[in-house]
Amino acid sequence: MSFVIRLQWFFKQRWSQYAIAILFMAGVSLLSTLPPKMIGSTIDLIRTGSLTQEQLTKTVLTLVGLSLLLYGMTYVWLTTLFGNSALIERLLRGKLLAHLTKMTPGFFQRNSTGQLMALATNDVLAIGQTAGYGVMTIVNTVVGATVVIATMVTLIDYRLMLAALIPLPFLAIAINILGKKIRTRFIDAQAAFGKMNDHALESISGIRVIRSYVQEDHDLNAFDQVTTEVRDKNKKVSVFNALFQPLISLIVGISFTIGIGYGSYLVLAKEITLGQLVSFNIYLGMLIWPMISFGEFINVLQRGSASADRLDTALTQQADLHDVESPIELGQHVSSIEMKNLTFTYPTANQPSLVDINFRLERGQTLGIVGRTGSGKSTLMKQLLRQYAIEPSKLFISEVPIEQIRIEQMKSFIGYVPQEHMLLSKSIRENIALGKPDATEEEIAKAIEMASFTQDIAQMPEGLDTIVGENGVMLSGGQKQRVAIARALLIDAEMLMLDDSLSAVDARTESRILHQVRMERAGRTTLITTHRLSAVSHANWILVLDEGRIIEEGTHDELMLFGGWYKEQWDRQQMEASLEE
Ligand code: ATP
Ligand code: MG
Repeated sequence: MSFVIRLQWFFKQRWSQYAIAILFMAGVSLLSTLPPKMIGSTIDLIRTGSLTQEQLTKTVLTLVGLSLLLYGMTYVWLTTLFGNSALIERLLRGKLLAHLTKMTPGFFQRNSTGQLMALATNDVLAIGQTAGYGVMTIVNTVVGATVVIATMVTLIDYRLMLAALIPLPFLAIAINILGKKIRTRFIDAQAAFGKMNDHALESISGIRVIRSYVQEDHDLNAFDQVTTEVRDKNKKVSVFNALFQPLISLIVGISFTIGIGYGSYLVLAKEITLGQLVSFNIYLGMLIWPMISFGEFINVLQRGSASADRLDTALTQQADLHDVESPIELGQHVSSIEMKNLTFTYPTANQPSLVDINFRLERGQTLGIVGRTGSGKSTLMKQLLRQYAIEPSKLFISEVPIEQIRIEQMKSFIGYVPQEHMLLSKSIRENIALGKPDATEEEIAKAIEMASFTQDIAQMPEGLDTIVGENGVMLSGGQKQRVAIARALLIDAEMLMLDDSLSAVDARTESRILHQVRMERAGRTTLITTHRLSAVSHANWILVLDEGRIIEEGTHDELMLFGGWYKEQWDRQQMEASLEE
């Protein structure tokens, strides 16, 4: 039942299709009772010696005509029903992806990529099967069995029918018990499949690291364990699946025994004719399929429900953050960014990554954020992206607390180059134009120029249309960074955030890019984190972080005078640079 409830939106939308399919299936069931009846009557005519040539021809032609009609009708309901099952798969996959795009990092920490892929493939498939094959089997069972039983009663003998159907309730009970077992085992099997997906993904994406540390065998063994688990779990499912068919055959066999035994007795007692006994046995045979169908239905439904539950669990997980009831719309510009005593702890961490952060940045200014690795630089920048909930009234954009601002609007202000750059396996042009697909050639060329990437493009085999491979495997580290920078520059955002985005380019290229950015973005706000201090020496304000706290702050000159971590680091880097020259 939960399956129907979870997917009622779909059944509501497609009820007319289902009605047509069910109507045709019922029609097929009804018409299928005619041939056995005709065969029985013909046998009785043969027995009494009153069968005429004309009658025989008529019967044969009717049988052929009926077969053709049934063929056509079956075609209609099959295509209608299985068309729906393909459609629901498509809709569910779309729904899942749309949901995933709205989720925040917390969701992806709870649900691994492999699990999500298993959802989008295996689980959606199981649901589609239930919505198609499952519906077919249940209609077959209900309509098929009803029609056949009704025909047995009206055309033959109700006592014979009752006797032959005595074993049926046992079948129902057994199926119920088996069904429950299958469901729990199927959930296990799907979970194991998700784990295997995770492992395969990691092995493939990390293949270079694995090879360079000569861990192939180790990884293969680990993968072997995972696949063994998948096999074992699926084996358990199949054991119970396999019990279904023999069980049905057994019960059908008992039915036939009773049918023939008691039926012969009735013929001898002249209660029914021989022809009726033959028809009855054909009808009994026609009950096998509905019974098998019922078994299959339980089977498919259990899997479908298990999958619908899993999918629903993922779909009902809300993003960790929402817009407030009536968010405040800011204008086109961000006049200032201000943090007041902001402290932040990651949901999974047990100590804060930012402590008592205070700063204020006016529109047009540049903020530099430096400090040792792990000191909280990226975390500070991510606060503006609103990926995690923060305490209210700690972070202000244009004097408005950030939690009051519509999330989408906040995002529209930001051009962000994350520390771990992410490229899609598309062309360079598509990668750059990601945030502005309708950008003109001039705009793209300008962004590329600003990112100092023009010369690199000239060397690519197909220029801008070169496909970069999965996550940009075709490009060097520095090239990837500059594609990511061009992407952020193209949208010409109010706030540009460069998170250690120039770490893989040489000092000269870095200063050229930063110079371009400064010229082009005069009047707008820029935030830069870096390990190379020369990248922020021009900034209006520099924060030095350590263990999440600001330990020094000021302009470059002030920090040099202060003579702390910044000056020490600066002197060392200058010395290294001059040694390199
Ligand atoms: P780097 O210079 O290496 O980029 P960083 O200054 O950018 O370092 P952050 O990435 O901000 O450092 O990390 C600050 C602290 O927060 C670290 O101790 C890190 O372990 C922790 N941290 C970062 N991301 C998460 C997360 N998603 N969940 C829990 N803790 C995290
Ligand atoms: Mg960082």
